[in-house]
Amino acid sequence: TEDVLHRQDKLAAVGQLAAGVAHEIRNPLTSIKGYAEFLSMDEREMDRQEYFDIILDEIERVNSIVEEFMLLSKPTVSVLEKKPIRPIMDNVASILDYQLRKNKIQLHRSYENPNLFVECDENKLKQVFLNFIKNAVEAMPNGGSIDITVKKENENISIIIKDSGIGMSKEQLKKLGEPFFTTKKDGNGLGLMVSFKIIENLNGKVYIESDPGKGTSFHITLPAVD
Ligand code: ADP
Ligand code: MG
Repeated sequence: TEDVLHRQDKLAAVGQLAAGVAHEIRNPLTSIKGYAEFLSMDEREMDRQEYFDIILDEIERVNSIVEEFMLLSKPTVSVLEKKPIRPIMDNVASILDYQLRKNKIQLHRSYENPNLFVECDENKLKQVFLNFIKNAVEAMPNGGSIDITVKKENENISIIIKDSGIGMSKEQLKKLGEPFFTTKKDGNGLGLMVSFKIIENLNGKVYIESDPGKGTSFHITLPAVD
């Protein structure tokens, strides 16, 4: 079991980030250009539909990268309000309901108390929960379970999202939160970077434990408000 505390310094290398963004966007652009050229060359081309599909997928890929970065670049002084965790988490669970069923995943939620409040921008916190739970789903291609526990610990609200998925190696754990680090065929490797950033802006922390082959848990702490 590995225990890793996310560190701010991963976000420091701005130049590297810009180079990464350029690279990740140029790849799909190159293939969009190539397939568009094929399509313009020969109208009787047999594979037209396939080319259109690739072009649309690649456009979607660029779009998802741009969207994640827009989230990051929004003012960090977003309006913070006192909000209860439970309805935020319940909403995310209902958004993911179909995906959970389809993947044969049981989602359990346990709230120590329905009135656990944090100071947050509700939509951004939703985004964070969504990213973590989606990753958990994607780590369980053959089904499994996700256990969410929300409780008060000293001055903090503690939110644990535990899955029974494929887990991560020590090397993978070290790379978490680096932009574009992904092990997925159609991942963009931005979800955790964005999520860590949002949690940091709320003066929260994230701890990760993972066992390859057994599962992973993300432990988020946020300052509690009364
Ligand atoms: P993406 O989901 O697009 O790959 P993320 O930033 O959300 O990007 O996650 C980065 C990587 O971290 C994933 O590709 C995966 O390797 C790893 N990861 C994140 N969450 C989990 C999890 N719950 N179980 C196993 N691996 C995970
Ligand atoms: Mg993800």
